[in-house]
Amino acid sequence: MREKKRIAILGSTGSIGAQALEVLEQHPEYFDIKVLSAYSNVDLLAEQTRKHEPTSVVVCNEARYKRLSTLLEDSSVSIYSGVNALEEIVQSEDIDMVLVSLVGYAGLLPTISAIKSGKDIALANKETLVVAGDLIKSLSREYQVPIYPIDSEHSAIYQCLIGEESNNVEKIYLTASGGPFRNFSTEQLKEVTKKQALKHPNWNMGNKITIDSASLMNKGLEAIEAHWLFGLEPEQIDVIIHPQSIIHSIVQFEDGSMKAQMGLPDMKLPILYALTTPDRLKTNFKRFNFEDFSRLTFEKPDSKRFPNLFLAYESMKAGGNMPCILNAANEIAVEAFLEDKIGFLQISAVVEQTLNKMSYIRSPKLEDYMQTDEETRVLARSLISKKSGR
Ligand code: MG
Repeated sequence: MREKKRIAILGSTGSIGAQALEVLEQHPEYFDIKVLSAYSNVDLLAEQTRKHEPTSVVVCNEARYKRLSTLLEDSSVSIYSGVNALEEIVQSEDIDMVLVSLVGYAGLLPTISAIKSGKDIALANKETLVVAGDLIKSLSREYQVPIYPIDSEHSAIYQCLIGEESNNVEKIYLTASGGPFRNFSTEQLKEVTKKQALKHPNWNMGNKITIDSASLMNKGLEAIEAHWLFGLEPEQIDVIIHPQSIIHSIVQFEDGSMKAQMGLPDMKLPILYALTTPDRLKTNFKRFNFEDFSRLTFEKPDSKRFPNLFLAYESMKAGGNMPCILNAANEIAVEAFLEDKIGFLQISAVVEQTLNKMSYIRSPKLEDYMQTDEETRVLARSLISKKSGR
C-alpha cells in the first residue's frame, strides 16, 4: 500500500476547499488532512476540524481567533491566527501537498512559501499566477516543485499534454460557458443585478469567480494562467464559448490534431486529479449521458460586449506588472459590484481606467508586485467612490 499523501488545504471553507474535503473524505486510504484554514468562517472551520481532525487550523482574520478557540476548546488541534500564520504553517514537515483554494491575491505569499519549502502545489487560486506568474514559475523550477492546476480548463490542458512531452503545442482553446449573460445586449448588461450575476448556468462556485465568469474576466485571468502554466504565447491561447461546459479545453498540436478533455462540469474531478495525478481513482461521480446532450455548440466570444477579455489579453501581452494591476483592479471592482456600489458594466470600466493610470514596471520583483497590488487597490477604490458619488 502506498503512503498516505499529507495535505494542507488553504481556504477550506470556500467552495473549492469544501469540495476538496468531500473528495478527500471518499478516499481516506490515500489522504491525510493535516491543515485546514479559513479567512473568517470559524463556525464551518470548527465543524470541518471535528470531522477531519487536522493537526493544525488557521483563521486568517485575527478577530475570529477567540471564537474559534472557544468552539474547539475540547479539541487537541493547534490553532493559529493571522495571514502570516499561513506562510508558516505550509512549511511544516508533515505536509506533502498544499492545496491553495484561497480567493484572489491572498493566495500569492502562502503559495510562494509552500514552494520554497518544497511542497507540491495543487493550485485553485488562478490569481497567484496572474499576479506573479513569472516569479511562481521560476521558483517552481528552482525548488523543483510541481504545480498541478485545479482550474478545470487547465486541468483539461494538463491531462491532454500527458504523454506529449516531446511534441509542440500549436495552440490551445480554453472553453468558456459564456456565463449567464452570453446573449445579453450592452443595454441589457447595464441593468444586470447582483442576483442575476451570481446565478451561473453550469458551475457551482464562490461569489468572486461567479461574477468573473459573468463578466468573462475569469476567462481572461485563465488565459494569463495558461500562459504561465504551459509556457504559451498570448497568440497561442484562444477562447471559445461552449455553453454546455462539457469540453473543458482543447490542445491543438503541430500536426493539426486536437485533443480535448470532456466530462460533466463538476469541480470535484479536477480537484481529485490534481491530488492524484498521474493516477486516477475510481469515483461514484455522476457520469455523462449522451441523451442529455444531443448537441455541443461553439461560438466566438464578443469582446465588445465583454471588454474584460480584451483587457486581460492586452495586460498579458504587455507583461510586467500589468496583469497584477488588472487583477487588483478587478478584485476591487467586483467587491464594489457585490456591494451595489457600481453597475455590472462599470466593473470593466474601473479595470480599464486603473490600467491606464497605473505606472508600468517591466521586470517586477516580489516587492514591486506587492506595492503594485496595494497602489492599484487605492486607485481603483477612489475611481469607484467618484462613480458612486460616495
Ligand atoms: Mg475555470
